[in-house]
This record gives sequence, C-alpha cells and structure tokens, in this order.
Amino acid sequence: MTLVDHLLERIAQDGPMNVADYMTECLLHPTFGYYTTRDPLGTQGDFITAPEISQMFGELIGLSLAQSWLDQGRPDPFVLAELGPGRGTLMADMLRATAGVPGFTDAAQIVLFEASPTLRDIQAQTLTGYQPRWVDSVADLPEAPLFLVANEFFDALPIRQFQRDGTGWRERLIGADGNTLTWGLGPQSDQVALKDRLDDTKDGDLVELCAAAIPIIAVIARRIGTHGGAGLIVDYGDWRSLGDTFQALHGHTHTDPLDKPGQADLTAHVDFEPLAIAARAAGCAHTRLTPQGVFLERLGIANRAQSLAATLGGSKLEELVAAHRRLTHPDEMGNLFKVLGLYPSPSSPPPGLEP
Ligand code: SAH
Repeated sequence: MTLVDHLLERIAQDGPMNVADYMTECLLHPTFGYYTTRDPLGTQGDFITAPEISQMFGELIGLSLAQSWLDQGRPDPFVLAELGPGRGTLMADMLRATAGVPGFTDAAQIVLFEASPTLRDIQAQTLTGYQPRWVDSVADLPEAPLFLVANEFFDALPIRQFQRDGTGWRERLIGADGNTLTWGLGPQSDQVALKDRLDDTKDGDLVELCAAAIPIIAVIARRIGTHGGAGLIVDYGDWRSLGDTFQALHGHTHTDPLDKPGQADLTAHVDFEPLAIAARAAGCAHTRLTPQGVFLERLGIANRAQSLAATLGGSKLEELVAAHRRLTHPDEMGNLFKVLGLYPSPSSPPPGLEP
C-alpha cells in the first residue's frame, strides 16, 4: 500500500476530494504523510527555511519578542511559544540570543505546537535543557501572557481553491483517471465566505481559502488580547489571495503537486488579510505587513552580520554574506516573505514592524 493507492481508494469511494483534504492526507497521513515520516528541512531535504539559513534570523526574532516583553513590564511567568518549530533551530537561536536579557528565559515556559512525531523528537534533542512542552491543539496554550513565533507554519495548512464562474464559484477538485490523479472542477455554487470577492474578481479568477488558519489565529489573538504578549507570523504570501499558489517542492525543485503525493512538500501562499481580521475580532491589534528584509534590517541584521564576520574567514565568511543577502534581498526572500505582528491594543508593536 502506498499513499497513491490510499488516495485512489478514497476517491473511488467518496468521489473527488478538495485540495484541503488532499493536502492533509499528503502532509499528515499517520503512515505515509510527508511531515509525519521525515525531516524535510535543510540542504539534504526538500526545502530550506530562514532559521536553517542563518542563526541571525532566530536571534533577531528572539530579541524583538524580548524587547516587547520588557516594554510590557516583564510578565512572569509567560509562555514562549512556536507553531510548527521544524528542527527547533529558531527556538534554540531565540533562547541563546535572549539569555542576556535579565529574567526573560527564567520566566519563559516553552510551548511547542507540532503535528509530526518525527519532528517532535528532533525538537526535543535541539532544545535539551529548556524543558519544552508540546500541545496537541493551539487551544491548549496556557491562559498566560503569550509571546509567539510562527515561521513557515501557516503555508502548510490546508487550503481550498475556488474558480469564479459567473456570480458563483466552482471548487477545484482532485479525481482519478485510471491510476492517475487528475484535476477537475466541482459544480457551481455560492460560497458565503467568498461573497465580498465578487467585487474584486472576474470570471475565471481563482481564490484560495485557508479555513484552518482562522481558529488558530483567534486563540492566539485572544491570549495576547487578554493576558498581553506579542506574535510574529512570518511567511510567504500577501494581502488578499488571488491566483493559484498551490505548490510542491521536492529536492529543492518545484514539481507537480499531484505527482509525488507524500514525498513532496505542499504549500500555498498565506493570505494575511483574513488572519488580521480574525486577530482584530478576537481583541488583538495587528501591524501592517512588513517585508522580511525590511524587518530584519530594522532589527540590525547588518550589525549582527558584521560582528559574526569578525570571527570568520574563507568559505564561512562567504556563507555568512550569502545568508544575509538571501534573508533580506528583495530578489530573494526579502520581499516575498512578510511579517504580521500581533500585540495588545494599548502596547506598542514589537520592534522591526510597520506600526
Ligand atoms: N518553522 C520551521 C519549520 C517550517 S516547516 C522552520 O522555519 O524551519 C512546517 C512546520 O509546521 C513543520 O514543523 C511541520 O511539521 C509543522 N506542521 C505542518 N502542519 C501542521 C499542523 N497542521 N499542525 C501542527 N504542525 C504542523
């Protein structure tokens, strides 16, 4: 039995499935899922993320959250949380960089939200000595001040795709032709969630919805709104979804998302607009989107790179220069990736962000 067999069987029984169900099966199936069965990160894996490119990313995120903690009167205890922590590299870099902020790491209770047992094991190894705790649901985040980061987490959540057809929408579905997975369109229907999108789309346009993101953001925003704290959501995407952004990465190259189910990373660009709306509805202020490059430059990545460079030479120095460029340059990750900041209304936003 392979994941393809399982998917074909499911389609034979229930009919074509939507993209969200396909993504969930491919990424999180208990036996065949992409995240459940492997560590996909790094040069040997399928893709590389900002914390795996350079320690500077996690260090600066940590210092931004620690400054926010100081600004809010050093709440003790507080929860330092991460969604989808991958190898635990970002959290480890944050904790190392903030060790010099008096009281911060002592007051922090580290909570991780991670679906993959394989990655939980790796996170436990990376964070030995810090006693992290894992929650199975974001709703289990303690009722306490919450300082939180999520990097490339929301892009892994399942989306649905809808193609405009007149004054209605047809959902993109995945069916089968013999033993091959194929694309199709469902029947035309109204979509309550897309009512306001009839104003800014035309026939044939495609929009994406990520329903799973909303309850997660709502819980986070409620904790921050009620108890204080701050959230930094970093991901590729933009404000208001338009067009097909569903993509697959295998061995650092783009592949057809239907081609290697369970063996390729599947993501979609994050639509930050509904996240911001949900955050506001749950009683939390949010910033405008800040491009990652601008965010890191404001936090002093150039100075940090210079001080690291002082101890390096040869290929290590070249790697550092390349990493700085990759994280910040508009032609690389600098513009594609954005940061959305969440904070309690009376406080100021974490440093580095647009107000
Ligand atoms: N933040 C890390 C890893 C990004 S990859 C980094 O920047 O390197 C996406 C992460 O989210 C992985 O840890 C993956 O296992 C986790 N993840 C994906 N879908 C999830 C879900 N539905 N619930 C919890 N964790 C999930």
